[in-house]
Amino acid sequence: MTHLTKRVKPAGPQEAIVFDSALYFTLQANNTSMRTLTKELQDKITPNIALNILKEGNLRFVSNLKASRNLLQQVNETKEGQHPFAVILSCIDSRTSAELIFDQGLGDVFSIRIAGNVLNEDILGSMEFACKVAGAKIIVVLGHTRCGAIKGACDHVEMGHLTGLLSKIRPILERTPMIEGGDSYAYADAVAANNVHQVMDDIAKRSIILDKMIKSHEIAVVGGMYNIETGVVDFYEHPHLL
Ligand SMILES: [Zn+2]
Repeated sequence: MTHLTKRVKPAGPQEAIVFDSALYFTLQANNTSMRTLTKELQDKITPNIALNILKEGNLRFVSNLKASRNLLQQVNETKEGQHPFAVILSCIDSRTSAELIFDQGLGDVFSIRIAGNVLNEDILGSMEFACKVAGAKIIVVLGHTRCGAIKGACDHVEMGHLTGLLSKIRPILERTPMIEGGDSYAYADAVAANNVHQVMDDIAKRSIILDKMIKSHEIAVVGGMYNIETGVVDFYEHPHLL
C-alpha cells in the first residue's frame, strides 16, 4: 500500500458547473451532447485524462447535471466496436452502478461487478482484456460505504458459495483495527477502504501484463470510495497521476 500517498476529495457540488476543462470540450461534439468514444478519441486519452473524465462525471452526477446523451444513437454508433477509456471494478450493490455515478454512456467503461469488489483470476483476465486488447487507460477499484458484503465478512457470515467469496475479504479484517463508537458500519467502512487498497496492490502483483502497463504509464490503477449517502466518490490516486 506504499503507493497510496494522497486522497483527493472532489470539489463540492457548487463547483460542478465549472467543468470547462480542455478535455470536456475535446469530448463534446457541440458542447451540448456527449460524443461516443472512437478509437481516435480513445488514443488521445491518457490515464490522467481518464481520471479527470471520471471526476467530472461524478461532479455532474452529484450536481444533477447529467450530460445529454442519445443512448439509442450510441447503440448504433457502437455496433461495429467499442473503445472504452476505463475499466471499473465495483460492488454488485444496486446503489453503485458505475455508469450512473460517473455519468457515462454506452461504450465508455468496462464495468466489472462482484460483491465486495474483490479480485479473482477471471476478473484479472477481464482487466487484461480491457486494457491490453481494448485500450482502456485506467483501472478503478471502487468500494462503497455501508457495503453489505464487507459487513457480512465482518460478521463472519457463512452461506453456500458466499463463504468462499467473503473469505477473500477476511485477511483485510485482521489488518484493520477495531473502531470504538460509531454505527454498525463504521468498522465495515474502514475494512472497505483497506480492501480497495489491497485489490489495487494485488492487480499489479498478480498480473504481469497489467504490471508492465502500469510501469510504462500506459495505464494507471486508482482506488475510490463511493459514499452511498452523498453520491460522492473519493479517489485514492497513484503517485504518477498527481
Ligand atoms: Zn457492496
